[in-house]
Amino acid sequence: MDNYHIHSDFCDGKDSVEAMADAAFRAGFDRIGFTSHAPLAYPDDWTMPIERVEDYIKAVRAAEVKYAGQMSVFTGLEVDYYPWRRGISDEVRGILPSLDYWIGSIHCLGLFDNGEVGYVDLDAHHFERCVDEIFGGDGRAAVTTYYRGIAEMVLHEKPDIVGHIDIIKKNNGGNRFFDPESAWYRDLWHEALDVVKASGSIVELNTGGVCRYGARCLYPAIEILSEAAAMGIPITVTGDSHSAETIGFGYDHLVPDALNAAEVKTIVFFDGQSWQETGL
Ligand SMILES: [Zn+2]
Ligand SMILES: [Zn+2]
Repeated sequence: MDNYHIHSDFCDGKDSVEAMADAAFRAGFDRIGFTSHAPLAYPDDWTMPIERVEDYIKAVRAAEVKYAGQMSVFTGLEVDYYPWRRGISDEVRGILPSLDYWIGSIHCLGLFDNGEVGYVDLDAHHFERCVDEIFGGDGRAAVTTYYRGIAEMVLHEKPDIVGHIDIIKKNNGGNRFFDPESAWYRDLWHEALDVVKASGSIVELNTGGVCRYGARCLYPAIEILSEAAAMGIPITVTGDSHSAETIGFGYDHLVPDALNAAEVKTIVFFDGQSWQETGL
């Protein structure tokens, strides 16, 4: 049992690296990876400040030593891709060589007129403001920017893992901003998967959205997971864990049920050097 998407109190997680590793070990994980939010290129209160990165890496490496021979502990980051800048921040790019792997995610959709960041995943009111102010009220334009951004990210930045690939649906309760059944929506995520397949990045089955926001926030939707598996895209399972008590959330039923429903036959694990495929 593995979990390659774990936060800590270095960013917006509740518990320390050590507490998260201890909880993972008690829950029976074989391999875990820490992926605190890398410093954002904008003022914020949810990512790790750049001056704390060195201490973060030291803390994770200490957990690696503590559990050597019992549970593998890897050092990663969850890095923001900025669709309107077509890249990650150069400052963060400089940190990547010192990591075991990294997750590329889009949380930021664009900038408001006042220079503040418009987020994909804050809340419905904020998302509405994004659609209105950044995309002129056009939900489809916001979704297009998101999925084209995912495609550009895997093409140009090559993250090991694509974070919560369909998180754009998070604030679309009641299909308020777009219809996920529409042909154009399917075309957009499918085009993104085509590029993911070509780039070699991994798609995560992420239970963190369900843990914090309920069943409709399983990332990705079964339909997308199923298509990714059929296309031969590598898949891994993560918890996007923000607290020690939820580190194994969904691994008992949600994960096997989703993998089964999507007919996923193999997943990948990290052996310290590269990602290896294993049958289910
Ligand atoms: Zn994320
Ligand atoms: Zn995360």
